Amino acid sequence: MVKKYVYFFGGGKADGNESMKNLLGGKGANLAEMAGHKDLQLPVPPGFTITTEVCNYYYKNNKTYPEGLKEQVEKSMKKIENLMEKKFGDVNNPLLVSVRSGARRSMPGMMETVLNIGLNEKTIPGLIKQSGGNERFVYDAYRRLIMMYSDVVMEKAAGIEPQNEEMGIRRQLEKIMSEMKKEKDVSSDTELTVDDLKKLCALFKERVKNVLKKEFPEDPYEQLWGGIGAVFASWNGKRAVAYRRIENIPDDWGTAVNVQAMVFGNMGDDSATGVAFTRNPGNGENKFYGEYLVNAQGEDVVAGIRTPAPINEYSKSEHNKNLISLEKYMPDVYKELFNIQRKLEKHYRDMQDIEFTIEKRRLFILQCRVGKRNGPAAIRMALDMYKEKLISKEEAIMRVTPSQIDELLHPIVDPKEEQTNKPIAKGLPAGPGGATGMIVFTAEDAVNWTKEGKKVILVREETNPEDVEGMRAAQAILTARGGMTSHAALVARGWGKCCIVGCGALHIDYSSKTLTVNGVTLKEGDWITLNGTKGNVYLGQLKMMDASESNKLLFNFLKLCDSIRKLKIRTNADTPEDARKARAFGAEGIGLFRTEHMFYGKGSEEPLFILRKMIASKTEDERKKALNELFPYVKSDIKGTLEAMAGLPVTIRLLDPPLHEFVPRNEEQQKELAQSLNISLEEFKKRADSLHESNPMMGHRGVRLGITYPEVTEMQVRAIFEASAELIKSGKKVEPEIMIPVVSTVQELKDQLIIVRKVYSEVIKKYNLKKIPYLYGTMIEIPRAALVADKIATVAEFFSFGTNDLTQMGFGFSRDDIGNFVPEYIKKGILDEDPFQTIDQEGIGELIEIGIQRGRKVRKDLKVGICGEHGGDPRSIEFCHKVGMNYVSCSPYRVPIARLAAAQSVIKENKDRKKK
Ligand code: ADP
Ligand code: MG
Ligand code: MG
Repeated sequence: MVKKYVYFFGGGKADGNESMKNLLGGKGANLAEMAGHKDLQLPVPPGFTITTEVCNYYYKNNKTYPEGLKEQVEKSMKKIENLMEKKFGDVNNPLLVSVRSGARRSMPGMMETVLNIGLNEKTIPGLIKQSGGNERFVYDAYRRLIMMYSDVVMEKAAGIEPQNEEMGIRRQLEKIMSEMKKEKDVSSDTELTVDDLKKLCALFKERVKNVLKKEFPEDPYEQLWGGIGAVFASWNGKRAVAYRRIENIPDDWGTAVNVQAMVFGNMGDDSATGVAFTRNPGNGENKFYGEYLVNAQGEDVVAGIRTPAPINEYSKSEHNKNLISLEKYMPDVYKELFNIQRKLEKHYRDMQDIEFTIEKRRLFILQCRVGKRNGPAAIRMALDMYKEKLISKEEAIMRVTPSQIDELLHPIVDPKEEQTNKPIAKGLPAGPGGATGMIVFTAEDAVNWTKEGKKVILVREETNPEDVEGMRAAQAILTARGGMTSHAALVARGWGKCCIVGCGALHIDYSSKTLTVNGVTLKEGDWITLNGTKGNVYLGQLKMMDASESNKLLFNFLKLCDSIRKLKIRTNADTPEDARKARAFGAEGIGLFRTEHMFYGKGSEEPLFILRKMIASKTEDERKKALNELFPYVKSDIKGTLEAMAGLPVTIRLLDPPLHEFVPRNEEQQKELAQSLNISLEEFKKRADSLHESNPMMGHRGVRLGITYPEVTEMQVRAIFEASAELIKSGKKVEPEIMIPVVSTVQELKDQLIIVRKVYSEVIKKYNLKKIPYLYGTMIEIPRAALVADKIATVAEFFSFGTNDLTQMGFGFSRDDIGNFVPEYIKKGILDEDPFQTIDQEGIGELIEIGIQRGRKVRKDLKVGICGEHGGDPRSIEFCHKVGMNYVSCSPYRVPIARLAAAQSVIKENKDRKKK
């Protein structure tokens, strides 16, 4: 028996259903569900889906099809013919079909669709008859078929790769058409007459033959198989492959092909086509939202040739408010559509994106899928649907992605402004958030203008590494060329900067410093606004908003997350301001307070100067003097932070970096230091040189400093205890945790603990206190420490995994030098991803697990957390949850993301458990 390769849908029945996305692709599975599910049975034009297995077969077998496919396709075509009471290729009553792609996950615009297949010189009269004599409609359909087919099927089959889009057959045909429009002095396609269109079809065919060296095929089945082949081929098209890389879609998923009876939204003024959403995808409001075009087909709505009209009052915007809504234009059809969309949302229990076509007042549904939405909309919908009892709490939490939360933490374009302003162009959404600024065309200008205090958007054909400084300076980046993996996109994503790439409508002229976009010319200094989350470019300076701190919905949503997560979320903060920001975002403590950071960027040079003095000291006496001077600064900074955290735990790491990092290179400063130490400049230089190390990251740093200079530890510990004591005295709560960095053996911890205990008893005596609550613990960041964690835990009361260094030393990859090879490793598939961004679970993760297990073996209540960059990475957070950590710590802006990721970890774990 041959395998089933073709799944039929139509006439109230379907072979497939929604759960078969892997086999039928998203579009095919949903078409089957809508056509065949007993609760739906929607008016879907009949058709069939060729499975993704055929796609895989096609690629494995030299672009051929499996045995039996031909028969199955032909049999299904007969079924469509019967249901539609038309015949494919019939002269009197022809059936036309569309050939549509459809992978498991939607890949918008990445693959091909061909409409109107089956139309040729012979079937044209039949279609004219069907349409009640509408010749215009038929020739319009024909010219569309020639355009689409020659581009999607023939040009590729001929192996022609035009050097640029201008030279492609599609552009050439478009040009012929626009020339004709110019000649006839009309602006819209619909104004071309029947004779114009007839002539156009002839011109098209002639051009196709000249350029592609092949006649446009007249045989309907040749057209059909050409279309099917083109869809499969488009799976490996450049665009689709690039998209898969970014979205992590495996190559072997393949695409399905959907062949479906055509219905016509372009049969006259009682026909239309449109796109609608069951809720507003821009802000999440529970209101039916959409657009439609009268007398139009398929891609017209998206292509932006004509301005689509709103489907109802709610969908009106500044741009289309004068157009008649579907609700008013065809109230009965609107009502039917409205009821269907309610049904669909209830059935799928999520916001749906629906494509529909109206043929002579008859409504057809052509597609539905879970609708894409931005961050604010995702959160509002999740909360609303939970309140409406459409979904459970867990589902609500899973409905929002960490990057959607991230979106809310960047400034965004005010959604209200976006409803009333139409984008002047669209590109690929390469960097999230919004930005507004003045156009500049060179990186140099971007830097200079920014220095003058102006806000700029850097607009380039494409960017290259020399532009980086300008890219950094600019509010956002906009490029005409390049895809989601282009230089601009990569760089902007790395910085979380708003960026749009591949905005093909831009024509940039560097020499005159102008750009033209869809007929509008802009010059240097003109304002534009970008929505990098959607890829929209707007004219002028739209209002921006900081959606984060005041966002009530976000906080309600995060509270929902808090109600089920197990991990605590702390923050890495070095200043009281950071601490306050993080608490506003929900941080439950500080997981890493780096003492050394207080010496930089404090406005006052004083503490840094004294620290440098301390470092350049030779004798213990000199050093102690400097330390005494430093003490009040350290103490007040710690006190401020402890106070800001109001009784929440604060992990304070003792001085970590190698000392030479603090030695000034500038001779003026060296002189000054020498003077204050009463030594000559030569002597100072000698001392500075002696601090030089050949591998400082593995040199005299961390606990090693504390062991060689106990007085350095003593000063810091005293600052911590005195700050705590004073806060306790004034009725405040404190919970300091003293953390020793770069530990590799328990002996180091024991050595330092003696100092800690000594200072502790001195301080409680001085302040006349019974006790100061505190913990003594360590970073685990050296592989050896993870292995001897059972010994270390006899002394340490907590572990904090420093996964930056643990990754560095575990891999033997210098963190600062990976740029030279890790990208290549990833390209070649040697590493799946950068281990400094997401924890390498297999290796470094194993060290962490060993560390936790061995540590808890000797100390059951050992507190365990993570304080590396990974603490803000959702997948690493999931790992931290799985291995039983108590908390993760991340930068203040990642705290909300971590709260979500921690909650999602619990839900995923429960799901996995149920599966087993
Ligand atoms: P995409 O996956 O890029 O959205 P589709 O397969 O949905 O591509 O096709 C694009 C458009 O073509 C649809 O939105 C629809 O308007 C039109 N279309 C596709 N098939 C048909 C059909 N059988 N009848 C009428 N229009 C169709
Ligand atoms: Mg579609
Ligand atoms: Mg470290």
